[in-house]
Amino acid sequence: MPDLRVAVVGAGPAGVYAAAALTRVDGVTVDVLDRLPAPYGLVRYGVAPDHVKMKSVDVALRKVLEQPSVRFLGNVDLGEHLSLDDLRRHYDAVVIATGAAVDRRLDVPGEDLAGSFSATDFVAWYSGHPDAALDRFTLRARRVVVVGVGNVAVDVARVLAKTAADLSPTDVPGHVLEVLDASAVEEITMVGRRGPAQAKFTTKELRELGEIAGAEVLVDPADLELDEAAEAALAADRTLRANLDVLRDWAAREPAGRPRRLRLRFWLRPVEVLGVEAVTGLRTERSRLNAEGRLVGTGETVDLPAEMVLRSVGYRGLPLPGLPFDERTGIVPNEAGRVLGGGSPLPGVYVAGWVKRGPTGVIGTNKSDAAETVASLLADEPDLPRAPERDADALVELLCHRSVQVVEWAGWEAIDAAERRLGEDRGCARVKIADRETLLATAAGTPLTAAAGRPRP
Ligand code: NAP
Repeated sequence: MPDLRVAVVGAGPAGVYAAAALTRVDGVTVDVLDRLPAPYGLVRYGVAPDHVKMKSVDVALRKVLEQPSVRFLGNVDLGEHLSLDDLRRHYDAVVIATGAAVDRRLDVPGEDLAGSFSATDFVAWYSGHPDAALDRFTLRARRVVVVGVGNVAVDVARVLAKTAADLSPTDVPGHVLEVLDASAVEEITMVGRRGPAQAKFTTKELRELGEIAGAEVLVDPADLELDEAAEAALAADRTLRANLDVLRDWAAREPAGRPRRLRLRFWLRPVEVLGVEAVTGLRTERSRLNAEGRLVGTGETVDLPAEMVLRSVGYRGLPLPGLPFDERTGIVPNEAGRVLGGGSPLPGVYVAGWVKRGPTGVIGTNKSDAAETVASLLADEPDLPRAPERDADALVELLCHRSVQVVEWAGWEAIDAAERRLGEDRGCARVKIADRETLLATAAGTPLTAAAGRPRP
């Protein structure tokens, strides 16, 4: 294969798996750009801190980014620092793997009251995402309602139910641990608008809710009664059967009187977030599926008192400047990863991951997804017009000229080493540095004071 220069935008699993597939071919060099100073995307900023095994996929991602034919360019924002046209001038092909960055909304009154948040916000905060203000969450609420019964809802409910001591061995930043330590949360209620046979969580994740030392799971047996359609769904799906076994086991238990209660409720659809200045609860309507399997309300209102509401009802993608976007599906229209503009492929522009298929699947799903995109790219390669600018340093020079502090691999290694040193102080493998300023100072070689996690003056 002749010299082929590819930019991958997004250093999460989809982007890095795309880089891995590309660099299996001789003659291909890849720059992986990310708007954050740190690589790994949702592995670093989405996978829950206590899911240590899942997080360890970063070891494999790291090996890809350390290859000589791959370069990491962090702190570079497509849209703010660079346009798609800039990339097309410097690269023969561009793979966009920017994920699905924002939360879906409930679209009910009261959703923007103080105390009503998205799970995306909460996950970003406890993961130390540079965009999340350090003081975004205080956890002074005694009762929290989590809307949604997918795996993200399970993650946020589990983190809320755990103590600072439970999470201290993980990489959560110090300010998060302090807030968890002072948390007033006593009751967390997860609410599904459909039944347990339609819930999206997976069994391993569900079961973990029952393994938290300081919290007990409460399930109303009446919620677990199944109609004929649900029985049929169960018969056809092993995960659903296993989920029901776990839920039935909890429903049969006597309350153990642990400090925190984690309640799972079903058949309640959100109608309004209650409150005047701040959240006082969630109004729901009891719901059911009609003969056609559509969700309908019964007219019966059920109010769930709470001082905090977290909606965890899925993610959606954001349009990227210069790229087509389907508002209805929240993805970039594509065929096997080839971006479609007006129905036909835009030469040299591809997508991978959530921005390509929507926010579904596990991390590993991105491997086959990225492989499909790269197969399309390599099949198109003979006909791709070559980029006019072929000097590998030209893009970094352009970014420097635009006053962007590009974080290359050595900069990330400095952040990585500083986080490991902070971890040594806490007796764990790593403590994340959360704010962008400190990440950038660390990447630039400004030493950190271990205690504060801030650059020395
Ligand atoms: P999800 O699996 O699609 O779950 C979304 C939940 O929100 C569903 O229960 C859905 O109910 C509910 N919902 C949607 N709109 C609603 C509304 N207007 N009112 C009330 N409820 C509403 O999404 P997710 O939890 O964000 O997860 C995204 C992806 O990441 C999934 O593939 C997930 O498995 C994955 N993930 C995996 C892990 C893990 O493996 N440990 C951890 C986190 C995330 P309906 O079904 O009724 O629409």
